[in-house]
Amino acid sequence: MGRVLIIGAGGVATVAAHKVVKNADVFSDIMIASRTQSKCDDIVRAIGNPKIKTARVDADNIDELVRLFDEFRPDLVMNLALPYQDLTIMEACLRHGCSYLDTANYEPKDEAHFEYSWQWAYKERFEAAGLTAILGCGFDPGVTSIFTAYAAKHYFDEIQYLDIVDCNAGDHHKAFATNFNPEINIREITQKGLFWEDGQWRETEPLEIHKTLNYPNIGPKESYLLHHEELESLVKNYPTIRRARFWMTFGQEYLTHLRVIQNIGMASIKPINYNGMEIVPLQFLKAVLPNPQELGENYEGETSIGCRIRGLKDGKEQTYYIYNNCSHQAAYEETGMQGVSYTTGVPACIGARLFMLGEWKRPGVWNVEEFDPDNFMAELNKQGLPWHEIFNQDLEL
Ligand code: NDP
Repeated sequence: MGRVLIIGAGGVATVAAHKVVKNADVFSDIMIASRTQSKCDDIVRAIGNPKIKTARVDADNIDELVRLFDEFRPDLVMNLALPYQDLTIMEACLRHGCSYLDTANYEPKDEAHFEYSWQWAYKERFEAAGLTAILGCGFDPGVTSIFTAYAAKHYFDEIQYLDIVDCNAGDHHKAFATNFNPEINIREITQKGLFWEDGQWRETEPLEIHKTLNYPNIGPKESYLLHHEELESLVKNYPTIRRARFWMTFGQEYLTHLRVIQNIGMASIKPINYNGMEIVPLQFLKAVLPNPQELGENYEGETSIGCRIRGLKDGKEQTYYIYNNCSHQAAYEETGMQGVSYTTGVPACIGARLFMLGEWKRPGVWNVEEFDPDNFMAELNKQGLPWHEIFNQDLEL
């Protein structure tokens, strides 16, 4: 049993809070803290458990964080705010003496740049303090990394080709909306593509490489090669991988909107002066786009995210496809949030559960594939994200 502090009160935090409450056998005390305390109170009201505490905190401010941690004394802090806050929250965890979990790697606000080096640099300090930091415990990164670890443990002597395939075949009936924080989402998609091949990173123009892939229970969808952060740790932790790629589906309508947004400069993260006030165009765009937390009610269809893997077992070539499909409606009925928040918040709660049980407690900074995957996989089946396996079929890739 242990005390957990959730930071952030967005879609992912809302789902994680619902699930943490359902895991009362391991979480003794729960607090939700975010920039806007009323949003934390809304989550508590929706869950209907007045024992959950709430607080206001600016997670960019290390001193404020440490004061809050000293007051609540968490064993684990779940960072479900934004990637910008990863380092301040990790720093505050070290100062107070508690462990850390997140779902996205650190990004500087003024540079859309995704890499783990900033967070890996904390390894020795977490080790010396006897504290655990669990990085990337959402779906991708998160479950996709654990699917890979599970495949490596049970089905392959050598993973050679890894393709992570992420399909959202949902329809929210809006002309344009993003499924999680629009600023973070648009920064990710408008980057150059990157994949690993023959021992080096290869760069592509944004969304340059695409292919039609078939998704279970969904059918064919155009899928675009993107850089995604879990590739960085997976090729490091599985050095036999010759090629690792990440694919995400987008509809034509979405891409047309995105192109216009970029062409008119609204995807820019460089501050501009507007009527004497400094604004960042992408942050302004976020303010006028639909709030991802409010997409759930009329969201139909499902997501399908998985790993397609080729490699060797006992000297013979094997293929393996492992995936989860998640219905937006079912997610909404359970938590009031759509499937993308659900598929991120549930794994965060499972990672926290395994930490509290001592199974994922190990001093240092770890990506999730570095822990034993078996109990995590069992919990996915129990906690709303069941997975399926297909052996030795054409992977299309
Ligand atoms: P939202 O934008 O809905 O929520 C973010 C929350 O963080 C908001 O409540 C916001 O407060 C709060 N916040 C922002 N800045 C601060 C700050 N300085 N101090 C305190 N609180 C702050 O995002 P999501 O819930 O959609 O996403 C949460 C995280 O999950 C992100 O890091 C995202 O990248 C990650 N993610 C990971 C995925 C995965 O599969 N691994 C998939 C999807 C998302 P306020 O409401 O006041 O603005």
